Amino acid sequence: MLTKLFINGKWEDAASGKTFPTINPATTEVIAQIAEGGTEDIDRAVKTARVALDGPWGKMNASERGRIIWKMGERMLERADEIARLETMDNGKTITESSKIDVPYAADLYFYYGGAATKLEGHTIPVNGPYFNYTLREPLGVVGLIVPWNFPLLLASRKVAAALAAGNTLILKPAAQTPLTALMLAEIGMEAGLPPGVLNVVPGHGSTAGAALVKHPDVDGIALTGGTNTGQQLMRDGAATVKKMHLELGGKSPNIVFADADLEAAAKMALMGIFYNKGEVCTAGSRLLVEKSIYDGFMEKVVDRAKKMQPADPMDPKARLGPLVSETQLANVKKYVEIGEKEGARLLVGGRQPEPMPGKGYFYQPTIFDNVQPNATIAQEEIFGPVLATLTFQDGDELLKIANGTMYGLASAIWTKDIKKAHRLAKALKAGTVWINTYNNYDAAMPYGGYKMSGFGRESGMEAFEFYTQSKSVWVDLS
Ligand code: NAD
Repeated sequence: MLTKLFINGKWEDAASGKTFPTINPATTEVIAQIAEGGTEDIDRAVKTARVALDGPWGKMNASERGRIIWKMGERMLERADEIARLETMDNGKTITESSKIDVPYAADLYFYYGGAATKLEGHTIPVNGPYFNYTLREPLGVVGLIVPWNFPLLLASRKVAAALAAGNTLILKPAAQTPLTALMLAEIGMEAGLPPGVLNVVPGHGSTAGAALVKHPDVDGIALTGGTNTGQQLMRDGAATVKKMHLELGGKSPNIVFADADLEAAAKMALMGIFYNKGEVCTAGSRLLVEKSIYDGFMEKVVDRAKKMQPADPMDPKARLGPLVSETQLANVKKYVEIGEKEGARLLVGGRQPEPMPGKGYFYQPTIFDNVQPNATIAQEEIFGPVLATLTFQDGDELLKIANGTMYGLASAIWTKDIKKAHRLAKALKAGTVWINTYNNYDAAMPYGGYKMSGFGRESGMEAFEFYTQSKSVWVDLS
């Protein structure tokens, strides 16, 4: 198993010699001891990334770069079973999700960006005077990528594939809870032909390895997917070196069900919206907003389905809900359930660990609250677990106030058969993604990101290059 730092194409111990354990959340057993990167290791990785940028990678044709990126997608599919098993072991997500969603979608990102590498163009600008002006689209440079534990391979790949296509060299810092598939990604890059130093992977903790990357004066930019408070800390730490940043942060997304919706489909997807990946999803539909006139009947459908959805061993192909990622995350979910009850919300289902437990791990039942007030803690704060807050609304104005009434603006969904109403609302919602009669769709080509305190910048699609490239204006005197 890959357990070391990957720097300059070689597997290395940390300079400090330290390691940290990565744990299987279904069993609580240690899977492996991982080399713990620190300031010195980050510095070594940055230096090697700079050399690679000025050297073979910077000089390579875009078409050749594109072929290597494409090959990474192919290698990923060839090794799909192995990667999916490792992801499930490290994160606790079900093997069905790892193998049917995370791995194929991650591979697709390499196919999309492999093709995109040759499509990055500058412009000619009609300036005043006898001058010719054109722009060059250049890589940002040495870029630090910091990713969370909920979709370890997928969220790393969203950044890695786009950043490589733009010609950058990288230091990837995975979350300490889930370093394994990021290390495998380093191996896949090597197998596909990335020159040494182009993709360095340095596992470690946020406050040490992560902070060292953000503060490093020779890092040109940082792309983070993480919590909003982490994003705020990064902005403070990056200020001294005016670090360019792309921040994908938290969410508290409204999933809105109107009386005229296909209620069977809406009920099914309300569950998928909140319980997919155990609710550890930044776009989780964690606030279910239901029109008052259909409330009781609709909630019956939702609760019936939730009762049938019990946590199970995530390696079982029939499992629909695995354990939470860590003991800390389990404690966090328990804390919010207590707060919900204390603040007067009514527990409709769940609210505790399953009995009997499917294993020793961090399992928690799908949990649904109703009678939640719009300003209640569980309707405002991101829980990042299988806990749904249900609210009601009566008319359009009230709905919009509730739907837009948090500090977040990551995603939202609307269920209705009235197409005009759906498009009107899609425009009025303050969120980076709006789904109409569906939930949690993603595509390598779809720009994705947050409004408000859910962050700034977009990843996926061609919009990702706004962060991963910079443009240079060139003036030529023609007089
Ligand atoms: P986190 O913010 O604690 O950690 C994310 C990453 O940042 C980790 O690699 C961590 O080590 C690193 N980090 C933490 N502190 C740091 C610091 N001071 N300097 C540098 N790096 C630091 O988040 P998490 O608990 O791993 O993940 C959950 C959060 O991520 C949730 O808030 C969730 O909404 C968010 N998230 C957002 C998206 C999105 O696309 N918007 C996707 C998934 C998760």
